[in-house]
Amino acid sequence: MPLTCGKCRSANVEVQIPYARMSLCSKCFVDFYLARVKKTVEEFKMFPENARVGVAVSGGKDSAALLHALRRVYPDLKLVALHINLGIPGYSDHCQVKVEKLVDILNVELNVFNLQEELGIKIGDFKKTSFKNKLCSVCGTIKRRIFEEMAVKAKVQVLATGHNLEDVAGVMFNNFLYGRWDQLARLKPVLPPLAEGMASKVKPLIRSPENENLLYCLYEDIPFREIDCPFSKRTGVRKRTEILEAIAKHNPYFKHQLLNRFLEIIPLLENVSPKPPLGRCKVCGFPSSSEICAFCKRTSLIKRLDKA
Ligand SMILES: [Zn+2]
Ligand SMILES: [Zn+2]
Repeated sequence: MPLTCGKCRSANVEVQIPYARMSLCSKCFVDFYLARVKKTVEEFKMFPENARVGVAVSGGKDSAALLHALRRVYPDLKLVALHINLGIPGYSDHCQVKVEKLVDILNVELNVFNLQEELGIKIGDFKKTSFKNKLCSVCGTIKRRIFEEMAVKAKVQVLATGHNLEDVAGVMFNNFLYGRWDQLARLKPVLPPLAEGMASKVKPLIRSPENENLLYCLYEDIPFREIDCPFSKRTGVRKRTEILEAIAKHNPYFKHQLLNRFLEIIPLLENVSPKPPLGRCKVCGFPSSSEICAFCKRTSLIKRLDKA
């Protein structure tokens, strides 16, 4: 006989939540998922009153689940979806189509930035540079910058990203192992704006495991990309995540515990090593801790290639 849901006690169990010792039907799972998003947003005071919120959507399951969940939990919230077309052949256009379908369903405004059309560069161009083995890292730097600029242009006060529990716990663990305290501090659930007029950055899915984001997408029939980025590689962080998964098999609550402990120590780290105020990049004027920002250092390599 199939088990009945531990919450409504009527429908059949479809999802096991081992760390919470719950067995839920699909409807109760969706309620559970949405309640956690709401609780996370409120716990960390992610959205100031009347804020316009931008959501960085890649076409992947996490950010798709985020946009959908926020629309569900906060029907009156002013939401704008922000998407970057990275110009990766056989991949980026597929992602954009999924994002367009999603915003159509939700009736949310969408702003798209096409890297090739607007900056004349594609992520693949970095194959010809010293970053050829670090495409994911350079792609991350470029995306972070463009989203910051898109947020200003879209006049949003808050920029929400779909970082999930594994992303955050994995990177935190990695930074911890290597003693990168300043980078550990950057994983806070809410990051203040880099400068006046810019958006704060928030991670409403920080407590949502990756597989639950996927399940939420499947139960809610949410369009998301079905192919992987052809440039993505197993990085150090990915391997570290596998270590976390191995421990989680023995202790399902482990990743949550790790996250909770990190969240407790982050404020202490900031007191130990206060950050110097940010200057401005000499080239683009963007807030930066070095004379020339990471974005300009990388994109100038491509511009130099074009001239050669
Ligand atoms: Zn139920
Ligand atoms: Zn710059």
